[in-house]
This record gives sequence, structure tokens and C-alpha cells, in this order.
Amino acid sequence: MDKKIARYKELIALIEKYNQDYYVNNISDIDDYEYDQLYKELTKLEEDYPEIIISTSPTQRVGDVDDNLVTSDKKIEHQIRMYSLENSYSRDDIIEFIDKVKKVVNATVKNIEFVIEPKIDGMAISIRYSDGVLVEAATRGNGVIGEDILDNIKSLGVLPATIKDRNEIIIRGEAYMPISTFNKLNIEREAEGETLFANPRNAAAGSLKLLDSSKVASRGLKLFLYSIDLGRKNSNHFDDLKYLAELGFPVNENIFKFSETDDIMDAIFEIEKIRDDLDDTLNNKLDYELDGAVVKVNDYAIRDELGHTSKYPRFAISYKYKSESATTKLLSVTFQVGRTGAITPVAELESVQLSGSVIARATLHNNDEIKRLGVKIGDTVIIEKGGEVIPKIISVDRSVENIESREIEIPTVCPVCGEALANDISGVKGYCVNRLCPAIVQGGITHFASRDAMDIKGFGVRIVEQFLEHNIIKDISDIYHLDRKAILKLEGFQTQSVDNLLEAIEQSKSQPFHRVLYGIGIKNIGRTATKLIVKQFGDIDTIMKATEDDISAIYGIGIGSASILVNFFKDDINMKIVDRLRSSGLKFEKETDLLNKTALDKSFVITGKLSQGREYFKDLIESYGARVSSSVSKNTDYLLAGDDAGSKLKKALELGVKVIDENELSTILAGS
Ligand SMILES: [Zn+2]
Repeated sequence: MDKKIARYKELIALIEKYNQDYYVNNISDIDDYEYDQLYKELTKLEEDYPEIIISTSPTQRVGDVDDNLVTSDKKIEHQIRMYSLENSYSRDDIIEFIDKVKKVVNATVKNIEFVIEPKIDGMAISIRYSDGVLVEAATRGNGVIGEDILDNIKSLGVLPATIKDRNEIIIRGEAYMPISTFNKLNIEREAEGETLFANPRNAAAGSLKLLDSSKVASRGLKLFLYSIDLGRKNSNHFDDLKYLAELGFPVNENIFKFSETDDIMDAIFEIEKIRDDLDDTLNNKLDYELDGAVVKVNDYAIRDELGHTSKYPRFAISYKYKSESATTKLLSVTFQVGRTGAITPVAELESVQLSGSVIARATLHNNDEIKRLGVKIGDTVIIEKGGEVIPKIISVDRSVENIESREIEIPTVCPVCGEALANDISGVKGYCVNRLCPAIVQGGITHFASRDAMDIKGFGVRIVEQFLEHNIIKDISDIYHLDRKAILKLEGFQTQSVDNLLEAIEQSKSQPFHRVLYGIGIKNIGRTATKLIVKQFGDIDTIMKATEDDISAIYGIGIGSASILVNFFKDDINMKIVDRLRSSGLKFEKETDLLNKTALDKSFVITGKLSQGREYFKDLIESYGARVSSSVSKNTDYLLAGDDAGSKLKKALELGVKVIDENELSTILAGS
């Protein structure tokens, strides 16, 4: 017990120190993940041994920080408390959160909508407009009392001075420093001999609290606003975000709305991709740091029903993209040609352990990144990996001398086909514009067959390569016109393996439209965007008729992506491929419209080994307008169970949920 008490005191001291560093000194020695682990350990100890709890424990206080941590004498009491959000780090945490929400409100609402937004790594602020005029701006402080920063916020010039809404309105958001501004600021500070800011968040926090407002203006801070907490216009958050944008407030554009757990997870990872993977968002390279996603219940009435714990709202959770780092040596750089023609520098590294796997390669994103890092061959580099993304080089360890220092040579011709490279609009990456470039053709076909697109089993990189080499295919439309005899002549193919492949290709014809559209591989249009487009327009003819304005009117799709989509269908070669795929019998319209039947208002859960992947059945069931959830509850109508079904089957039997097999599923769907 003495040991427990000692650890308890140690944890409190550590957390206090980090709080003080973070909120007052604007420095952070540990990452959020470690901090949360300490906090969780403390909470667990208190749960297990309630007799040891002391009143000064950070868990026992209402806000995040003590009142005395607000250093300025210009204090402002928040009319409505500013909560911080509970952090989570895994899919399971999110599922648990969604399940908890559904449990509380299941009596009233069946299909609960969630809004998924990027979590900007900046400083939380609250602003108030009265009679259309900005009258108050404050930091979060401890959530109850914040610091007055009205003059500083005004000096930034990023908020409308007046708005047409005359009601009392309180809006919350995040102030951040753009990465480019941050880099510039640190260069200036270095030249002046001042201490450097550790990261853009610290720089933003430090700048907002400056006493001289005229200095703040030069810091170039920006804002994203993410909630109306008083004076709401609509009955839900999503529509209020649109309203904020209408009023002229800066609102982030990567915001999604979904009900199903899988879609919510997809959106979370999509936001991470937007942050990390520059291939799909080349022209919109994010100039701000985001460290996670926030999942919020959309409907205000449901939020009220859920309420708050003493520290957090129960209707929202933040998902942090986890990152771990390691140090290794840069051996060389390879320039890879992606399916869109973009040339990406890839670092070849001395093998090193990171997050439980051996890493020998990391992305350098683009040519600008090489310049920004100032990295050379032979340098000791720090690499980082977060979530599902491939590792990246985040900095060069300058404390290690590099004796074999060699500049990285940026190619001017395509390393695969030798064609002169074009620059993309932002000029940070080379592009191979030769549409017959083997790397682009091969990447496009592999993408089409991949698990997230048409999911053609057995049609991987190696076979695609072999088929291209022997002229069996030239583009994706050839996949549905393969010459069986010609394939049998290839090395490594037997009657059985060819039949299996052809069968898998035949089956892929039943994939839903959104997968076909995603598979075609339009630059900039990711999985989530494809789903939104299909949901909005329904079929290919309507999509082709849509203007840039029609497309960018979909919330979550920018004008850049809309323009790429419109231009894609203006291209003759693209149209030829699309027409040929259509005549091969692929789906080019949403299934529910095709069937023209009333939606099947049932909830399904899928478990066990089935004749096709789970995604297949999920898409099939959803195409009838029914819902697929990830866990069994008393609201589940059917459990589709294959072989080796485990805990879900047990739970379904306990709850009396009807268990069905694939045949029964067909009957149910056919009857809808
Ligand atoms: Zn090329």
C-alpha cells in the first residue's frame, strides 16, 4: 500500500508539472499519449483505492487547470463552460464511445448521426458577438475562467467585425499558427538570438497572450471555428457549421457526417490521410498541424440527453493519431512514380525498429520537404509513424556529424519512362505526364483491383506486372476481356489458378458503384469523397452532367477536387475506358435507386467466415438501405453468421437476436 501511495503522489506531481508546462509555460516535454497514460493510471489507482484520494488531485478539480494558472489579470468568466474532450487512441475506444451513446438514447432515436472533424493543434478560444458585433474573446483557461484576448484577436483581422445575426452568439474554435508562418518566425527569432518555439501550437499560445496587440498582428495567426454554444440557429451541429461559414467565419472544410461505425472510422483515417499523404491532396497541402479527429453527436437534443461528466462532454470524443519515433541513418533516396504520376521521394534507411515493426523506408513527401528538412544522404534522421500511415522523416539529428554528406539529387526526368517531368501547381513535386508511363499504368490497374476498390482476389502487383509485360492488358477496361488461352501460356499459371482469377474478376462486377468510381482512380478523389459523390448524384450520367459548383456544394468536397472530377470526364481516353467498363456490366448507379424499393429498415451485424469478405456483405446490405453495425445489441435485427462465429454469436443468442446464414440473407433482401 505504501508503494501505491508513493506512486499516487508521484503521478500527481508529474501531471501537475506537465499541466504547468503546457498551460503556463507553453512547453511540452511529453506527448499527449504519454500524458494520458499517466492520467489513466492515476484514475485507475483512485478507482481501486478510493481511500487514498486527496483533494488536490488533478482528477478532483473541475477544470483542466487551477484558476491561479490564468496569469493575466484580465480574467473573463465563461457564460457557458468550455469543456475539453476525452482522448482516445484506438478503434475500440471509438466503438465503445459510439455504443455508449447508442445505449443512452436508443429508446428515442434509431440512426444517430456523428460529425467527424479534424482536431487542429492550436489553442482553444471563445468569442462572443452581441447585436452583430464582436464584443468578447477569451482563452479557455480552466474552462470556467479564461483570459481576455479581445484586442489581440481583433488585431489578427481574421474574424468578421460585424455579422448579420443580431442575437447573442457564443462561438468556440481554435487559433493556430500556419506551419509556413511558424517556420519563418523561428528563422527570424534565430537571427535575433531569441529562443525558438518548439512547435506551432506553442507559438500560437505565446502569441495570443502577448501584451502588445500590434505585435500579435505580425504573428499571422489564423482561426477555425467549430461550434456554436449559444445562439444556435439549427437543431444540429452540422447545419450550424454551415451557418457559421455563411456568416463569414473560417470553418474547416474536411468535415464529415456519418452514422455507421465503419464510415466514422474511415472518415477519421481519411482526415489522417489528408494530413499525411500528400499524393491525394497535392494542391491543398495543409498549412496547419492537426493531431487527431473529433467525433461529435450531431443532434443537439441527443447531446442534451447525454450531458457531461465532471470533466468531459459525453457526446464527443477526440481520437489522437498516435506517433512514435526512432533514430536511424539515411542511406539513399529513391524517386517513386505513383498512379497519378506524382513523383515521391522515398528515403531508404538503415533498418530500425519502430512501433513493433522493422522500418527500412520512409516517405519524404516532396521536394520542398527535402529542402525544409535540409536533409542529406548519410544524415542521422528521426522518423515517426502514426496510425496507419507509412513512416516519415520528421527531422535531422544535427548532433551527429555526417562525414559522407551528399546532396539529394532531384530528378528532372521520370525515373521509369524517361519523359521530362512537369511541375504540379504548387511546384513541390515533379509529375510524369506520360499517361503510357508503365509506372502510372501499373499503379492504376493495381489500385482498381485493390481491396478498397474492386477487391479482385489474387490480382496483385506481381500479376499486373506480368500481364502488362505480355500485353495481356493495357488499361483497367481490359480486365473484363481477358484472353484465357494467352494467360495459360504465361509462367506460373495453371487451369485452376486462371479459373480462380477469372471467377474473382467476374464476381467483382457486382461491386457497388462507389467502389467502381473509386477504382477508376480519379486523382484527389478518395474513398470518403467517392461515397459522398455517389450518395449525392446516384449515377454516372448525373455525375458527368454535374458542374464544379454542383460538386463542391457537397459538404466536405473542395473546389479543387470538383474541378479535377469535371475535367476527368471531359477526357476522351477516360471516357472510352468508362464506356467499356459500363458495357462489361459493372455497376454505374446506386443500388437502392436501381431496385426502386423501399429501404429495408433493419439493423444487421456480420460475423464469422463467409463466402465473401465482410465488406462485400456490408455493401450489399447497405445497398438495400439497411444498416450494418459492428456490435450486437438488443436493437440488432439480424446477425449474419458464417463459420467460426464467436462472441457476437453468443451475445446474439443471449439477447434473442435472429441469427441468419447467407441464404436467409438473400431471402430477406429479396423480400424487401
Ligand atoms: Zn513516367
